[in-house]
Amino acid sequence: VSRSAAGDELWAARAWLGAEKGFSSGVLISCDPSGDITEVRSGVDRSECAGGAVIGGDVCLPGFVNAHSHAFHRALRGVSETVAGSFWTWRDLMYNVASRLDPDSYRELAALVYAEMLLSGYTAVGEFHYLHHGAGGTAYSDPNAMGAALLEAAETVGIRMTLLDTCYLQAGVNGAPLEGAQLRFGDGSADGWAERVSTLLARAPGGAVRVGVAAHSVRAVPRSGLEAVAALADSHAVPLHVHLSEQRRENEECLEVLGFTPTGLLCESGALSARTTAVHATHLAGHDLTLLGEAACGVCACPTTERDLGDGVGPFSELARAGAVLSIGSDSHAVIDALEETRALELNERLASERRGIWKVADLLGVGTSGGARALGWPEGGISAGSPADVVGVRVGSIRTAGGGGDDGPQGRDEELLARILFAGSPADVDSVVVGGRLVVSGGEHVSLGPPEAVAQRLEAAVGLALGASR
Ligand SMILES: [Zn+2]
Repeated sequence: VSRSAAGDELWAARAWLGAEKGFSSGVLISCDPSGDITEVRSGVDRSECAGGAVIGGDVCLPGFVNAHSHAFHRALRGVSETVAGSFWTWRDLMYNVASRLDPDSYRELAALVYAEMLLSGYTAVGEFHYLHHGAGGTAYSDPNAMGAALLEAAETVGIRMTLLDTCYLQAGVNGAPLEGAQLRFGDGSADGWAERVSTLLARAPGGAVRVGVAAHSVRAVPRSGLEAVAALADSHAVPLHVHLSEQRRENEECLEVLGFTPTGLLCESGALSARTTAVHATHLAGHDLTLLGEAACGVCACPTTERDLGDGVGPFSELARAGAVLSIGSDSHAVIDALEETRALELNERLASERRGIWKVADLLGVGTSGGARALGWPEGGISAGSPADVVGVRVGSIRTAGGGGDDGPQGRDEELLARILFAGSPADVDSVVVGGRLVVSGGEHVSLGPPEAVAQRLEAAVGLALGASR
């Protein structure tokens, strides 16, 4: 990935500078050597940007943040659509892929999945990583070989990443032991997990990659383990993510065996704080909403996955009103499309509630961008001083986004323009992507991997390997 010189300037013809300012014209973004924004000025002529890069595309938005990803699930795109059933039948397919990957094949697959994310407008990803060990659960000579492969994949293609190293200890709420493909996920005990993760945290990758922690779910981690994960997150001041109440069955089992809802159990375990992000939060009891809101937890909605798996529609706007901070994630990668994921939050809720206009357009953009940055432990200010220079340049004169009128600017009223992008744009409208001041996508092509077709060709080979040669 090419790097513009340290302390560079970037210039955008028009950029979204937050809900109050809306779009501003002639925006000069100054960065420090680490790729963080030091100053943003508008009304600056392009000729004043001496030697800096011009961000292609008609308007710039803050980079979208994919707060929840399992990179290897990408291999199941299409495969899973031909199999009827439920979340649980889909999970069996996913375990088949999990059993085939090693550090080399996973590094390649993940790099291409992250490239797909960049090409769709995501500048950062939270990788919820639990595929830790070799076949049968045998540790690699470097017990963090798989996590290291994912960090390398992110650095290779230039996406910002928080690797959420995930504790996974049991097969169900009843404490059943791991079996089959799950053996690769487990560290034997919460202490075993904490020891391995501490080594990874001590490596302190730095730059645009960081390490956080996760508990897979209340199904996969007993209460003592949840407490250990929460303690580690607190002592290192890193994000803590957890799958929560994606399925009614999880709620029923948790209540029956442990006497708490999954949210209640997390609360009892000290795992609910502003550092916590609950992923899905689809099926909540009334008091669960209060607990998540009062603790100012993050909640990551994964609308395209939730509809793909038939999970249901979570009470996301209600959670936001209760005090939770929403973000989005493409999770199983049924599709990877930052704009689709963001608008799906509003559109799914319209279907469920028979109402529209549930989210203000600017707030929806905030969920897709700053909410995710907060969830992953990065500054959440968008295109402003103190935040990383993560920007996406979008073309607004395409067959999908053309429109206009009004007087705010050449492409129409600010809010309407933003709505056209969010509700009708696609990855084909993404022209440029800047991560930490570096241009990683330009003219719709990844600067080192080439056009989307070239990425697709390599991805096809990597997916073929993950699915197995016998297919
Ligand atoms: Zn997930």
